[in-house]
Amino acid sequence: MNLIIFGAPGAGKGTQSAKLVDQYGIKHISSGDLFRNAISNKTELGLRAKGFLDRGDLVPDDITIGMVKEVLQGLGSQGFILDGFPRTVKQAEALQIVLESVSKPIDLALFLIVDHKVLLSRLVGRRVCSKCGAVYHIDSKPPKVSGVCDLCGSPLVHRPDDQESVIANRLEKYQEFTAPLRSYYDNLNLSVEVRGDREEKLVFEEILRLSGKD
Ligand code: ADP
Ligand code: ZN
Repeated sequence: MNLIIFGAPGAGKGTQSAKLVDQYGIKHISSGDLFRNAISNKTELGLRAKGFLDRGDLVPDDITIGMVKEVLQGLGSQGFILDGFPRTVKQAEALQIVLESVSKPIDLALFLIVDHKVLLSRLVGRRVCSKCGAVYHIDSKPPKVSGVCDLCGSPLVHRPDDQESVIANRLEKYQEFTAPLRSYYDNLNLSVEVRGDREEKLVFEEILRLSGKD
């Protein structure tokens, strides 16, 4: 099973990806996580990407494509879910070429649709585990102990790009560069729409139904 999950920041891509990984035993390839790991490990890639993430801008295509390509080429026979990539038409075109070379066609491109207001409140209240990446929300999904991950006990952090000043820019960039990929995957007959403004479990059940079809 090879999937792509699309959605504006806060749409729930990471949450649904984690569930799909458990369900299908596929690999979660999150470009945002790859960048954040590179930044915290202070690698050359991390140093190049940091300013873009801090501002909520897209990292240039050549850097991003190179990074994801390496992961895809190292997958062996395992399937994958791409989360956060592709984000531009150029990235989508590069992805087609890489996937052809490793004979791993996309089965489905999921588009999570969430209202702007809901996105804002999700992002402003979002807290993530600094170690395992588990996602919480201060109002709708608080951890048992404030500021501490239920799963691994590590501190929760407010992502620097989840500050209100940066969120607006990320949402704009999504509209400008990534939303057009909907028609790109429509043309390949791969896209399906899922309403993401419902309970996590319901969203997941619908995704399972849609991805189980082929
Ligand atoms: P979200 O989808 O919630 O905005 P991500 O964790 O997917 O968050 O991405 C965080 C940041 O990483 C983006 O704002 C951008 O700076 C960078 N990034 C991630 N994926 C890409 C990509 N495919 N192309 C360019 N920049 C990217
Ligand atoms: Zn944790």
